Amino acid sequence: MTAEYRAGGTDLMERRASGRSTGHIIDLYDQGLRSIEPTPDGGFRIGAMVTVDTLATDPVLAKAYPALSKTAGSLATPQIRRAATVGGVLLQKTRCRYYRNEHYECLKTGGTGCPARDNPGERAVVLDVGPCVAPHPSSVALAMLIYDAVAEVDRSPSRRVADLYSDGARDHLLEDGELLTAITLPPPVEGERAGYKRAISRASAEWPLAEAVAHLTVRDGVIIRAGVAVGGVAAVPLRLAGVEQALTGQPPSEELFTRSLDWTAAFPETAYKIPLAETLIRDVLTQAL
Ligand SMILES: Cc1cc2nc3c(=O)[nH]c(=O)nc-3n(C[C@H](O)[C@H](O)[C@H](O)COP(=O)(O)OP(=O)(O)OC[C@H]3O[C@@H](n4cnc5c(N)ncnc54)[C@H](O)[C@@H]3O)c2cc1C
Ligand code: SF4
Repeated sequence: MTAEYRAGGTDLMERRASGRSTGHIIDLYDQGLRSIEPTPDGGFRIGAMVTVDTLATDPVLAKAYPALSKTAGSLATPQIRRAATVGGVLLQKTRCRYYRNEHYECLKTGGTGCPARDNPGERAVVLDVGPCVAPHPSSVALAMLIYDAVAEVDRSPSRRVADLYSDGARDHLLEDGELLTAITLPPPVEGERAGYKRAISRASAEWPLAEAVAHLTVRDGVIIRAGVAVGGVAAVPLRLAGVEQALTGQPPSEELFTRSLDWTAAFPETAYKIPLAETLIRDVLTQAL
């Protein structure tokens, strides 16, 4: 493995301590990448070293992309959000307990099997997109998906953030040594509102069991644009394009927001996440309205 970048270090240093990361480190502290700039089309370019706290609290970003700001403000703790960066939150490694334990090998450590499949536990995925059964860890990725964010990478052409997460075998598709330099977001939509909610097993400082984020734009009593994504349910962050389509063009209502997800749970242990996700989706749409 080539050297691994260190941004805020909140994920990397934990893996160093557990022996899961062992090679050289390139510290990004002096690399800049901290600016937030308007783009010619009216969107924004956010440097990879901008902190998660800035995503959550910057008033311009909060007005432009409320779903992103609410999501960023919900994760971990204030201390971690001040250290964690856009690059790190999008490219952090899985929280799977086997992966985090150096005594196990699996598909994500260069091994061949997945020990979690035989003992998934209540935190595993609901939807088996395969081969990994640990939910994708990034909350902020969900918001980036529903804003159609684009990732700027130093050694290859820019690509949609969604394309970084198209393989359930990997946490993201950046190659070793590739540097994420910035995220660009399209122009904000006037009048958009947003909701974010997570189900979590303790008050804070924990990844959620499930989470949902949504934005809605309503004009003349009709939803003209919707973005909905759910986390904690699959090995990739999940945008619900079908739900977005069902909402668009309709007048908002409680019935419309009450979604029945046509999912089959991969494991009995995680079947509880289906009604949980349905409730979270209803709640974030109601918040957004
Ligand atoms: C108690 C706790 C609770 C948490 N809860 C949540 C949660 O609910 N939701 C959530 O999303 N996260 C959660 N997190 C994770 C946290 O958001 C991440 O640890 C953090 O965002 C990582 O950012 P960082 O800048 O510290 O990354 P680092 O630890 O520095 O890096 C993480 C990884 O990204 C790579 N990387 C970083 N920047 C770049 C770049 N520019 N280009 C290429 N590679 C790069 C690094 O090489 C490394 O592999 C939690 C963390 C803790 C400790
Ligand atoms: S769930 Fe994913 S990270 Fe965990 S053991 Fe299986 S392949 Fe590895």
